Amino acid sequence: INNDKMKTFEEVESAVRSYSRSWPTVFERAKGYKLWDVDGKEYIDFFAGAGALNYGHNNTAMQEKMIEYIKEDGILHSLDMGTTPRKAFLEKFRDTILTPRNLDYKIMFPGPTGTNTVESALKIARKVTGRDTVINFTNAFHGMTIGSLSVTGNSFKRHGAGIPLHHTSTMPFDEYVEDQDSIAYIEKFLEDNGSGVALPAAIILETVQGEGGINAARMDWLKKIESICRRWDILLIIDDVQAGCGRTGTFFSFEPAGIKPDVVCLSKSIGGAGLPMAITLIKPEYDQWGPGEHNGTFRGNNLAFLAATEALSFWETDEFEKEINKNASLLRNTIDMIIKKYPELKGEARGRGLMQGIGVHVEDLANEICAEAFKRGLIVETSGAKDEVVKFLPPLIIDEEGLNKGLGILVDSIEHVLS
Ligand code: PMP
Repeated sequence: INNDKMKTFEEVESAVRSYSRSWPTVFERAKGYKLWDVDGKEYIDFFAGAGALNYGHNNTAMQEKMIEYIKEDGILHSLDMGTTPRKAFLEKFRDTILTPRNLDYKIMFPGPTGTNTVESALKIARKVTGRDTVINFTNAFHGMTIGSLSVTGNSFKRHGAGIPLHHTSTMPFDEYVEDQDSIAYIEKFLEDNGSGVALPAAIILETVQGEGGINAARMDWLKKIESICRRWDILLIIDDVQAGCGRTGTFFSFEPAGIKPDVVCLSKSIGGAGLPMAITLIKPEYDQWGPGEHNGTFRGNNLAFLAATEALSFWETDEFEKEINKNASLLRNTIDMIIKKYPELKGEARGRGLMQGIGVHVEDLANEICAEAFKRGLIVETSGAKDEVVKFLPPLIIDEEGLNKGLGILVDSIEHVLS
């Protein structure tokens, strides 16, 4: 393979296993909410690494911190060692995020990615309760390793992996059964000891299901789930890997519900600059692992800590939240306008904050819209069990101009696809 000549998407494709089916080009540079490919074509990013780039691409302050650190021979890898970047991150996370929200959690590093934090949460719940089953939800997505997949409510993702489902009980997610009372269903399930139902160690959920189709649980439903957990002594695990770090308008997605989960999973944007990083927040009484009970070589990426610490500066005042919520309203208004103007989409608005989508109930139409948008310079993805939702996840730092430009491309793409 001559790397100098591997410029076109087709050349790359012929050399490696097919990867990017959605965006067939070779990207070269990115800044803020924009990317450019090797031909200099500009794209607006409404994908943001599936929520890993909430602060945009190549934030200048994060870049400077990382470059300076490398030049000064800062330690990059530091398994099981305290370092200055790790210490700075822990202190700032406590002072900026936990203390102002009156949250008392211990912070642990479970491994580099989202699925690692979920695995650690499931393991903690099983250890501290001595039970081994977990309640999960329809359409949930929690990661691609065996434990995370076993609580993922999507048979396509599990397909072929032979995932043992005997230790999970899948319940209907809130919005998924709009007219049914899924709380009564869960309570009935837990009360029904007579049929041999084992009391679960934990309930795990995303407050807004990202991969599952931007399904946003109602706040009172979340409160009721918390009450169920308290009543039965079950741990509540909130997977905020995608919905956290400001995506839904508050740092933690569960804040508006006023609940206090036992375990919180964070990854993606916790690393600030898009570098692999994950943390698991646990109530202090659940910190019961002995040394070596949960380890992993890449749990301490100091470049990620530096960028992550810089990212926390966004949360020092409430300005950032205000901006996110202003842009979220603009996005929702445009989505409402689109749904009204194009009844052919049979569409509905989904989600909250800057985690929104349009459910498009005509086969393949959502995918066609995204493909057309790509041609016109907008990176946008579908989600949902049938790829039926056009999913908007712009970087949270996007301004009104960027948002309007991206939405303009979206509207043109819809017009084109429907014509
Ligand atoms: N949980 C949720 C809610 C996610 O959206 C994802 C990734 N899309 C994961 C877990 C898994 O994260 P990772 O791909 O980094 O392992």
